[in-house]
Amino acid sequence: MIQFKNINKIYKIGDQEVKALKNVNFEIEKGEFTVILGPSGSGKSTALNILGGIDKATSGQFLFDELEINSLTEAKLSDYRRDIVGFVFQFYNLIPSLTAVENVGIAAQLTGNQSLANAYIEKVGLSHRKHNFPAQLSGGEMQRVSIARALAKKPKLLLCDEPTGALDSVTGLKIIDILRKASESSETAVVMVTHNAEFAKLAHKVIRLHDGEVASIETNKTLANLS
Ligand code: ADP
Ligand code: ADP
Repeated sequence: MIQFKNINKIYKIGDQEVKALKNVNFEIEKGEFTVILGPSGSGKSTALNILGGIDKATSGQFLFDELEINSLTEAKLSDYRRDIVGFVFQFYNLIPSLTAVENVGIAAQLTGNQSLANAYIEKVGLSHRKHNFPAQLSGGEMQRVSIARALAKKPKLLLCDEPTGALDSVTGLKIIDILRKASESSETAVVMVTHNAEFAKLAHKVIRLHDGEVASIETNKTLANLS
């Protein structure tokens, strides 16, 4: 579904150049839960931003279902972000004045279709909390709302930037479990960026970045059961 072919990303600051990604190659399939792992500064966010159509590679090919994303016009790129991609962030980005279920409904443009928003709230195990506001929820619960909101868009690609970064490890594992199930039970590819090597054994595919280069790509045939 996704191919990175010799992707390079160079940031220019004045007359200085930072090579954030160097000849990066990888493939990601539908229904796969992929972790991009690497220390700070290794190029993880840059790779995620390119995958999400937020940033463009300096050179190389990024193919999504045969579509060359790097050469899309701004308008087409905006369609790609809206129709294909879902985002989950470390700090949830929920609207504080809306309840959990309203946050899911509004982001999916489902206002008026309350049952669909409810279904996604249920999918992440938060039915008992759906009328609570973000301030009344724990970190793990807020992250579940943000995942429900992202999934309600039915994205083909769900991009998660350190989604467990602000959570304790037990809560973090529950979030990983939800993301992995989401990848397995739908046609969605889930890509999660993290610096936490503990998560490597929990993903179908692990892409390790080091100094902007792919250090290794592993595929796990059997996965630890999380729940
Ligand atoms: P990670 O997410 O693994 O911490 P990043 O992708 O954020 O890594 O950064 C990779 C490299 O690119 C780092 O050296 C970083 O300083 C540099 N970089 C990232 N974004 C920018 C930018 N907008 N301008 C200049 N340099 C950047
Ligand atoms: P965690 O252990 O995940 O950090 P908390 O200790 O913050 O969770 O919260 C435990 C439970 O209490 C959660 O289910 C959360 O939704 C609920 N809770 C926390 N703060 C409030 C609040 N102000 N109003 C209602 N429920 C709350």
